[in-house]
Amino acid sequence: MSGRRVIVVGGGPAGLMAAGQAAALGAETLLLEKMDRPGRKLRITGNGRCNLTNMSPLSEFAAHFGPNGRFLRHAFSEFFAPELVAFFKPLGVRTVTEENGRVFPASGRAGDVVDALTRWVRKRGVTILTRSPVDRLLVQGRTVIGAQVPPGHVYKADAVIIATGGASYTSTGSTGDGYRLAESVGHGIVPIRPALVPLETAGDIAMPLQGLSLNGVKVRVLANRKKQAEASGEMIFTHFGVSGPVILALSKQIVDALRLGKRLVLSIDLEPALEDATLEARLLCDIAEHGKRQFHTLLRGMLPRRLIQICTDLTGIPADKPAHQLTAPERRRLRTWLKDFRLEVTGHRPLTEAIVTAGGVATREVDPRTMASRVVSGLYLAGEVLDLDADTGGFNLQAAFSTGWNAGRAAARGITGIPRHSVRQNGLA
Ligand SMILES: Cc1cc2nc3c(=O)[nH]c(=O)nc-3n(C[C@H](O)[C@H](O)[C@H](O)COP(=O)(O)OP(=O)(O)OC[C@H]3O[C@@H](n4cnc5c(N)ncnc54)[C@H](O)[C@@H]3O)c2cc1C
Repeated sequence: MSGRRVIVVGGGPAGLMAAGQAAALGAETLLLEKMDRPGRKLRITGNGRCNLTNMSPLSEFAAHFGPNGRFLRHAFSEFFAPELVAFFKPLGVRTVTEENGRVFPASGRAGDVVDALTRWVRKRGVTILTRSPVDRLLVQGRTVIGAQVPPGHVYKADAVIIATGGASYTSTGSTGDGYRLAESVGHGIVPIRPALVPLETAGDIAMPLQGLSLNGVKVRVLANRKKQAEASGEMIFTHFGVSGPVILALSKQIVDALRLGKRLVLSIDLEPALEDATLEARLLCDIAEHGKRQFHTLLRGMLPRRLIQICTDLTGIPADKPAHQLTAPERRRLRTWLKDFRLEVTGHRPLTEAIVTAGGVATREVDPRTMASRVVSGLYLAGEVLDLDADTGGFNLQAAFSTGWNAGRAAARGITGIPRHSVRQNGLA
């Protein structure tokens, strides 16, 4: 048993990056992964395309994490999006930057990212043990000395990095073990809850619209008629309610408001670019041109077909009414509905279906410069196990890579005695 061993618990993006960096700095590194192979969640990211990171400037980027973005500033200042892109290039993963700064592998395959990362980790000399779920941290006094895998395999180490991810999409291996491990050695856990999660809505509106996606809508969240939040973009109807980028972006605030017992309504503006007067002018123009058409046919120029019946039901305007007979109050009802199509939120999908877990190991108990635990010496934490979560757009993966990068290097430095400046001069890959 070497006296300079780093154990990394969990082979997601944070753990793989941490392990490779620790090994690159000369630490004997053992990666213990619970599943049959590392990177299972990474493989399904970005609908299989993997939105690796985002090219927003640092301050804008960090703001996507809310108040905890401050914690990440140091990690980002050391290893950020341009460094991540440069890191992957020699590993054979070229990237492309798409709309809103989102970065993807040029191949469009998340699997390429996982394979390249795993190859790199192995090449660095990391030993990867799969089907090895750590169920206990071994601690002596206030110092970590190893980890245990049932039925009683003990792996000693001088530093342990917990990179077990969150508690969602549990079939990928992220089942919240890290929270229990950290708590067992004295860490405080900010209550975990879903972030980036689809929402359930009342009544039978969503079900028949299942699969319909609406682009460029503005969604406002109302509690007792007061606006709580709003976002614009794409949403999609599902058999239980709504999902899609704009809904996911609002979901964390909605989950928190629902927990406080607030009654919430989504107000969807289907025509955010049009003021009421412009909308009326457009309607009158359509009516002048196609006055003989029935109301539902007139709507075809304005709405996706599947929304038409919902529109006639909710506005109470007879579907077969000739357009030229629409009264001013009916046109007003239609305009109001187009700008304020309401869905009552009854709940959210469970944590297991969330893209990211909010809550986790309290960041105040972790040194932001090194990801070292302030509670147990030799212990480090990286990735989603920390109380960090951001919007969609590549922010969460960058946080996993940046904290993993820092944790791996700091853990190796801690046990090998390499001074900080020479660590920074070391090549990235
Ligand atoms: C469907 C989906 C799509 C997503 N798409 C994107 C995207 O495009 N861009 C983006 O930025 N983010 C995306 N995310 C979020 C992103 O995947 C996570 O934030 C990120 O994977 C977290 O990395 P991690 O290394 O901390 O944890 P994880 O990726 O969850 O990895 C944790 C690893 O630890 C292992 N493990 C757990 N417990 C133990 C244990 N006791 N012992 C040993 N091993 C253990 C797990 O098996 C797993 O391999 C997506 C998430 C989902 C669910």
